Amino acid sequence: MATLKEPSFRESVDLMFNRAVALLDLSPGLEEKIRVCNSTYTVRFGVRLRGQIHTFTGYRSVHSEHMEPVKGGIRYSMGVNQDEVEALAALMTYKCALVEVPYGGSKGGLCIDPRQYDEHELELITRRFAYELIKRDLINPAQNVPAPDMGTGEREMAWIADQYKRMKTTDINGNACVTGKPINAGGIQGRTEATGRGVQFALREFFRDPEGMKKAGLTGSLEGKRVIVQGLGNVGYHAARFLAEEDGVLITGIIERDGALFNPKGLDVEAVASWMRSHGGVSGYPDATHTASGAAVLEEDCDILIPAAMEGVINLDNAERIKAPLIIEAANGPITAGADEILRDKGVVIIPDMYANAGGVTVSYFEWVKNLSHIRFGRMGRRQEESRHHLIVEELERLSADKQLGWTLSPGFKDKYLRGAGELELVRSGLDDTMRTAYQAMRDIWHSRDDVHDLRTSAYIISISRVAASYRAKGL
Ligand code: NAD
Repeated sequence: MATLKEPSFRESVDLMFNRAVALLDLSPGLEEKIRVCNSTYTVRFGVRLRGQIHTFTGYRSVHSEHMEPVKGGIRYSMGVNQDEVEALAALMTYKCALVEVPYGGSKGGLCIDPRQYDEHELELITRRFAYELIKRDLINPAQNVPAPDMGTGEREMAWIADQYKRMKTTDINGNACVTGKPINAGGIQGRTEATGRGVQFALREFFRDPEGMKKAGLTGSLEGKRVIVQGLGNVGYHAARFLAEEDGVLITGIIERDGALFNPKGLDVEAVASWMRSHGGVSGYPDATHTASGAAVLEEDCDILIPAAMEGVINLDNAERIKAPLIIEAANGPITAGADEILRDKGVVIIPDMYANAGGVTVSYFEWVKNLSHIRFGRMGRRQEESRHHLIVEELERLSADKQLGWTLSPGFKDKYLRGAGELELVRSGLDDTMRTAYQAMRDIWHSRDDVHDLRTSAYIISISRVAASYRAKGL
């Protein structure tokens, strides 16, 4: 971590906010209202484990209630503290506004190393934490809806939903109290992959923006681009896998807690992930060079750098040495405010966190809507869509039977065309549309305003303007 004077994570977010808000014409009162975090609840609770009471500290921070419910993940990590959850809650407000999901921003965290506990212990701890938040309406389908984040996943979300339903037995919308649940516990297809999938869609859209690519000094397509990923967890794994399998990028570096793997010919993401599952880290993985100092690999030559682990990893200490011309912030806050300035001066293009990792909250929104409507997407329309397609295919087959016209249907066309969209296809389509639309809004400001030189400022301008409009509509 940085040894030079570095602002805290929350100060970093505020500095970036201030840079953008200076370009907007808001009253100082409204500016302050949007910037500050409304409330942070700290809870300390005890759980009896291994014959003794263990005390845990958790937080749930609500940044902005201009729209409700408020939304944001719950993180399990030893690094969790008030400053961090408040920074993450603020980012959630801006993220939701940018991708137009109708939520305020929130975030939660529990100061715990989940790897030190077995599944049963984690369930006891999670249920107790959830109990503390539920009884104060800090988990509630209409008010505050958590999701997974670092150190948590669908298993924890299922425990939280179940805890809520045990406590609020008559709430018919109980499943909507949390998102990121497993499919058989009210989840939605495509939520687990959503944040990584969103990173892929964001990069695809960036590569459709010639002016943006020119600013990064990149040419061509994603195919063959050398990519380094930090953190092969939920977000990093899905992003790396989809980009390698579907867009032909070369994952040349993977940085994890126990060092980094490097292979200029490209790493097999699935094989590395499977090695990590059975060995607990990347060390010892064959077919790559292992470097004990993982962070140094952030500075390796590559086309695209994807920090997907945690905040503050690109800071005043290493920013100058970063060689990637394009960084996509899959994690929240991986670049500090100081490093952001250094990188911008060097001409590095940064696709900011509040946009890059918004796929998670976008699909969480779809899941919440599904839970409130109590019906799976596609259930009503799929077969009807298929039967309309049948009509067209039958007509085409009738015409192609006419030898005089001399044309036939391409092989595979009929099967592909006939298949109506299921939930996964609809979720991916909704996510793709969201990522494209949000990028285009940022791009237009970035390329058209002389006083906006980067995508982050552009993203903040859009978000702050939308939150301000929402407050104004309420008469504030
Ligand atoms: P995760 O716990 O699934 O994965 C994190 C990965 O990073 C793990 O593999 C871990 O071993 C690795 N890691 C941790 N510290 C590291 C270090 N110092 N160096 C290298 N690797 C390290 O977490 P996640 O859900 O993938 O979240 C990662 C980031 O993405 C976080 O910043 C989170 O806030 C953000 N995010 C997650 C989601 C989501 O849907 N899960 C949504 C939006 C943003």
